[in-house]
Amino acid sequence: MLERLNDLQTKDLELDAIEAEMSQTPVELIQLRQKYRQLEAEVNAKEVVYQDLRRQVNSSELEIDTLSARRKASAEASLQAQSAKEASQYQNQELQFATRLQELEEDTLPLIERLEAAQAELDALKTQLDELEPELIAMNQAEEDRVIAIEENTEALKDERAALAANVPAALLKQYEQVRRSKKGVGLASIVNGKRCGGCNVQLPIHVMQKAKKGDTITRCPSCGRILWDQVEA
Ligand SMILES: [Zn+2]
Repeated sequence: MLERLNDLQTKDLELDAIEAEMSQTPVELIQLRQKYRQLEAEVNAKEVVYQDLRRQVNSSELEIDTLSARRKASAEASLQAQSAKEASQYQNQELQFATRLQELEEDTLPLIERLEAAQAELDALKTQLDELEPELIAMNQAEEDRVIAIEENTEALKDERAALAANVPAALLKQYEQVRRSKKGVGLASIVNGKRCGGCNVQLPIHVMQKAKKGDTITRCPSCGRILWDQVEA
């Protein structure tokens, strides 16, 4: 009876190992995903800087256009003036517009330089991201394939497990599964050197040993609760 349970446990431990293996995403992939996310964040941050500068430059350029138009209108008006006094007034106006225009152009120049620098940095970051993408896609695909292959192998093992479980009495199976859950995998422990629990290594009291040797009822380790198996008897 316990020997059959032991066969079941062997299968369960095999399945546990596969499950652990399945959840182990390769370190290179984890690192690549991190690198990609970091680059994406950098691109987004740089995009904000770039758009802000773009708005400032656009607004300055709009103002420059308006001032240029006014300056031109003043220049034309001075040419068509009816008197020397009127002509001089328009010329003064033209000069004022020209001065403001020059100031504005001087202020805008560094903004344009910063905009161009931001554009270059943004392009460089986007290129890095584009270069990383095919590698990431390929590695993600490989990881998906790896997990699917393991899952396919597991299907056969699960069928075998079900067949083995069907051979174990229901009450024993229930206890075994309870202990297995609480003890992270091992529910059935062999008796080691005829006196110790193979699960927790505690020395077993004589009456427990005797009960386990008889083997007609389920005996559990008083320390860890695992079902004890005296392999000599089995
Ligand atoms: Zn124990």
